[in-house]
Amino acid sequence: MAKTAIIEEPGGPENFRIVDREVGEPGPGEIRIRHEACGLNFIDVYQRTGLYPLQMPQALGMEAAGVVEAVGEGVTHLKAGDRAAYASAPPGAYTQARVMKAAQVCPLPDGISFEEGAAMMLKGLTVQYLFRRTTPIARGDTVLFHAAAGGVGLIACQWAKSEGIRLIGTAGTDEKCRLALDHGAEACINYRTEDWAAKVKELTGGKGVDVVMDAVGADTFEGSLNSLKPLGMMISFGNASGPVPPFNIGVLGQKGSLKITRPTLFTHIADHATCQQMAKDLFDKVTSGAVRIRIDQRFALEDVAEAHRALEARKTTGQTVLLP
Ligand code: NDP
Repeated sequence: MAKTAIIEEPGGPENFRIVDREVGEPGPGEIRIRHEACGLNFIDVYQRTGLYPLQMPQALGMEAAGVVEAVGEGVTHLKAGDRAAYASAPPGAYTQARVMKAAQVCPLPDGISFEEGAAMMLKGLTVQYLFRRTTPIARGDTVLFHAAAGGVGLIACQWAKSEGIRLIGTAGTDEKCRLALDHGAEACINYRTEDWAAKVKELTGGKGVDVVMDAVGADTFEGSLNSLKPLGMMISFGNASGPVPPFNIGVLGQKGSLKITRPTLFTHIADHATCQQMAKDLFDKVTSGAVRIRIDQRFALEDVAEAHRALEARKTTGQTVLLP
């Protein structure tokens, strides 16, 4: 049996219930894993509220780390007793143990703790694909990254710094801005108190940035387009402030032949070999010390509602884990 946080219908954090669930045995291509820690992500909020609809009832959670207990037929990259971590769909990671597809589960290097593993897979693999697999970004290029003191944000600041990429961050308080700067951002603008798009222009000598990475969505979308150089790339990858409203594609032409993409991690990690290779790249960044996983909040699994409230209220920084 495994204690599991489920919702029976979309809504507020008060909808979470902790239930005991049968875990079962892994079938072909599956493993059974016992979790030591589970990661909290903003996508869990979109799923809980119904912005990203799911079948109900549903256990939430898209990343975790723990020990493999059993492997099904055909699984060769993992065995019972291995330390492992994953980001994976469908949700169901807010639990003590589960049976799941093995393809996206990765052997966890000894130098990375379970908490770090649980906190870094979804956010770290996202940073990997943003910087390596979405648009060419060269040393010396400038990237604007919103919510730079958040979970994905603090990893992005360090990743950029380690690659010689200039990252201009934004964040909701001066304290968060300092955190982003401490993690490698070249500049960070408090977008609740400053005209941040004007400031980005100023910081780039009037030119604008090469790439924007925007997961704040509704509140920042237009300013983000205005912050790009001609031929610049807008990567819209989330909606923490609400979904981007429909827009006229002609605007991209008027603002300088801009490019736009709306990626999701789950397309990038769908293929087993690609996912394992991306994870290796991420693990190398962490074990080399180039990227440090900063866990600022820890909650018991039973307190998942409180964890969601903190994330939605912009009270968290860096990574958050649930301890089952
Ligand atoms: P964060 O820890 O970054 O938390 C979200 C942050 O967004 C907040 O802390 C807050 O920072 C900022 N924010 C701005 N406006 C709002 C608002 N109205 N309500 C709440 N927060 C707001 O979360 P994650 O690291 O888990 O994820 C960051 C973003 O990246 C999310 O939008 C997520 O969906 C997206 N994402 C997308 C993926 C993809 O593949 N497409 C994969 C992974 C994440 P501040 O106070 O500084 O403004």
